[in-house]
Amino acid sequence: MDKNLPISVLEDLGKDARIIITTHHKPDADAMGSSLGLKNFLLKLGYNPVVITPTDYAPFLHWMKGDEDVIEYEGKEALANKLIADADIVFCLDFNDLRRINAMGLEVEKSKAIKVMVDHHRLPLGFDDYRYWTIDTSSTSELIYNLIHDWGKEDVINKDIASCLYAGISSDTGGFKHSNTSYETHLAVAELIEKGADNTDITDKLLDNFSENRTRLIGYSIYEKLEILPEFRTALITLTREELERFKVKTGDTEGLVNYGLSIEGVIFAALIIDRTVLVKMSLRSKGDFPCNELAAQYFSGGGHRNASGGSSKDSLEDTIKTFKKSLIEYKDKLWAEA
Ligand code: 5GP
Ligand code: MN
Repeated sequence: MDKNLPISVLEDLGKDARIIITTHHKPDADAMGSSLGLKNFLLKLGYNPVVITPTDYAPFLHWMKGDEDVIEYEGKEALANKLIADADIVFCLDFNDLRRINAMGLEVEKSKAIKVMVDHHRLPLGFDDYRYWTIDTSSTSELIYNLIHDWGKEDVINKDIASCLYAGISSDTGGFKHSNTSYETHLAVAELIEKGADNTDITDKLLDNFSENRTRLIGYSIYEKLEILPEFRTALITLTREELERFKVKTGDTEGLVNYGLSIEGVIFAALIIDRTVLVKMSLRSKGDFPCNELAAQYFSGGGHRNASGGSSKDSLEDTIKTFKKSLIEYKDKLWAEA
């Protein structure tokens, strides 16, 4: 744990402090859960924070308390830039590299605001003044829960705060099944349920609330597009722009698709490579000790966790797939290390 965040930072600034909370590009449930969890917590203490996301996010995340006041940077640049420039403090949640917030990164870097990183990804870059960082905690939402406890303010946690944090923890642990799920994680969610988080309702909102198109896209991807590479214990799904259009893919529709490859016996590494408009983006997942974040960093300017990472490429989809397959040759020994 790399923790040098004194609670007094906020107390010294006072209740009129101009507070920004931001999180990564295309925020997921942990990014939004930690951001809105922290926002609702600070609101109850009498502060008035503003959440700014670099981009839009999936429809199934719009139920959290405070969602209606979130500013999406794309389209509101002038307003957001002013808020960032004038801020006293910026909380950077669930990322540790300013490139993860796109054009907002430069604005945060330029701002004189105190920068606080709360994150659980490997290899943090040093843009922050204070940090609350570890790779040993399931999620940024669990870190926010810990921060509230360190502050001695757990009595402030109400149903809204608990629901946001529960969503983030349950999502980043894959429903409490990934290896990042600890004894402490279960204690945290037990308390969040006690404080009012409705675990069944939240799970329904996050996992059983998708569009028909998304379900058909999953069926198509598994039936038509899944490629198994047994010599590399790898499963690969690729999607072209034409396919994204055919299934009217919206933000959030491809989340979780990469996991189907990993559910196949013998597969320990799964990749989903998608031709997005500007970049080719990829999601990588692995089992055991295979470090998919190393492969993402080496070949695709990416990173993340050992078992869940991502990256991107400026090449065509075809060339990116070729590079991916070439990378497997280099990583073959590591892919078979635990066989
Ligand atoms: P996902 O596949 O769900 O988009 O991302 C999985 C994990 O990889 C997340 O923890 C995310 O932070 C990380 N990740 C995804 N894309 C990138 C990227 O382009 N760069 C870095 N550094 N991390 C990424
Ligand atoms: Mn996270």
